[in-house]
Amino acid sequence: MSDVIKLLPDHIANQIAAGEVIQRPASVVKEMVENAIDAGAFKVQVIIKDAGKTLIQIIDNGSGMTENDAVMSFERHATSKVRKAEDLFALTTKGFRGEALASIAAIAHVVLKTRKEETETGVSIEIEGSKIKKKEACVCPVGTSFEVKNLFYNVPARRNFLKSDNVEFNHIIDEFERIALAHPDIAFSLHHNDNEIYNLHSAVLRKRIVDILGRNSNDKLVPIEESTDIVKITGYVGKPEFAKKTRGEQFLFVNNRFFKDSFFSHSLSKAFDGLIQQKMFPSFFLYLDIDPKKIDVNVHPTKTEIKFEEDKLIYSIILSSVRQALGKYNIAPTLDFNRETSFDIPYEMHSKPAVEPTIHVNKNYNPFQSSPAKTGNSFTAAIKAEGFGSNEASPKDWQSFYKIEEEESEPEVVELNLEINNQLTKNFLIRGKYILTNCKSGILVIDCQRAFERIVYDELINKFISNPISSQKLLFPLEREFSSNEKNEWINNQVMLERLGFYGEFQDLNLSLSAIPAVLQEESIHDCINLILESIAYQEIGKGEIAHVIVQSIASASGKRKSAMQNNEAAEALVEQLFQCPEHSFTPRGKKIIQTLTIEEIALKF
Ligand code: ADP
Ligand code: MG
Repeated sequence: MSDVIKLLPDHIANQIAAGEVIQRPASVVKEMVENAIDAGAFKVQVIIKDAGKTLIQIIDNGSGMTENDAVMSFERHATSKVRKAEDLFALTTKGFRGEALASIAAIAHVVLKTRKEETETGVSIEIEGSKIKKKEACVCPVGTSFEVKNLFYNVPARRNFLKSDNVEFNHIIDEFERIALAHPDIAFSLHHNDNEIYNLHSAVLRKRIVDILGRNSNDKLVPIEESTDIVKITGYVGKPEFAKKTRGEQFLFVNNRFFKDSFFSHSLSKAFDGLIQQKMFPSFFLYLDIDPKKIDVNVHPTKTEIKFEEDKLIYSIILSSVRQALGKYNIAPTLDFNRETSFDIPYEMHSKPAVEPTIHVNKNYNPFQSSPAKTGNSFTAAIKAEGFGSNEASPKDWQSFYKIEEEESEPEVVELNLEINNQLTKNFLIRGKYILTNCKSGILVIDCQRAFERIVYDELINKFISNPISSQKLLFPLEREFSSNEKNEWINNQVMLERLGFYGEFQDLNLSLSAIPAVLQEESIHDCINLILESIAYQEIGKGEIAHVIVQSIASASGKRKSAMQNNEAAEALVEQLFQCPEHSFTPRGKKIIQTLTIEEIALKF
């Protein structure tokens, strides 16, 4: 019997490859403009006729090619960008497969004109269906011009598959915008059937975004900036009130390459939780800078999907930095220097005259002082002034008021002084567990343990964004038995756990912990590990929530230990730190930290 297997001729192999890389005119634009950028161009012109079905021309002022390179460039797997296998793992160029030109030349009429600076004349090559038809010296500027005509002329199925000019041209605009946003420093122009669609000058990122989205967009942008040892994030998100009904304004870039990633997009949507309505989408232009060794670009023929080694960490870093930026914007919109209006005055206030704000505070208000205070304005007087009658208030009353039953001893009431907003406020520490403090409507009762949990959580999350959090070595390693499921989950999340301060090794199912987060006391480790395992091994949690869950566990375990506050300074510092947390009313797990007792509620007790 005769053998039947034959190697495909090059032109057929190229046509097949073209099917993957070149799906439509927009793909040609993408590949060719990327080549121009890789060639160091700082000016790229894109000229389109009939949505690219008749002509796609890309002119650049990059390095140009020698005659030999120009011929070689159309060969399959011909590339100047990758020399050895390792290069694939540290890509700094857009292209690397050496497939685009070979594919395009297999399915279109191509004219290439190119010249290097060193030579007086350039070379012109005409190629059709992978065959060179003409090659001659030519006069042309330094750089490269590719004309791609009659795309898919020899693949009718593909040509018929193309959509209307409108649709195809919109795809071209999408690709053009993605590349232009990735490279604000490069000048780009786009012409369609002799109409100028874009003429973008080299600019800073904000200007480039505004040039593409339109002038009104400047006011919408909130800057994002975060630098960590894993990833550097820069860019802008749209203010919540400008959210869109479609995902049209969502752009992610890594090392100046546009990519799509539903996981990271989810992180951004999550950052906007509660700020925008359901089914609305935030705008974002987010640029990740990351060591090229830590990403894999080579997972998809058009390179729009990228694998990240540390995707969970990056998710958390995006989430936190966008939340932080939005928080800043919400608190201080007038600090946005790019705003045209200088004050944000609520609409209903516009017609009212300005009134100097005043605050009435009884500086000496002290619910535990049963005799008139030396300054005269006593608790009794204060209560009376509110229309209530009791002359006597003793710590005992408060004890029963709070029904603290588990401890036998008399309540220990320590009087603290604390400066908040330059107002002298008195605080009282009760049994090392609660702090009472004065407020306008009555009394605030602060749960020390929960307050501590919130403070530690905020501190760790903020630190963790930019650096691994500090770890303390244990004098004697701590041993702990895991189930096999727990062990798997621990190992799955090891990078994150180490970043948060846990170092250890398994021998079978036994974890020997050699270092723990510095904020944890040794006696809380078991508690903390239980809390972590409860979440990572027994609950459905999103990949991106893991950092938050672990930090919550650390905060909660350390809160328990420290909660018995015995000294005044610690309690004072606690109140001060708590009120510096943007969210000071609830713990990260959503438990109330502060209860308010209004004067009316207190009165009802008598
Ligand atoms: P890749 O970009 O993956 O290397 P391509 O098929 O897109 O593969 O291009 C093949 C080669 O042709 C490139 O590696 C580069 O050396 C050269 N080339 C392509 N376009 C240009 C250009 N505009 N300017 C200079 N050289 C180019
Ligand atoms: Mg290329």
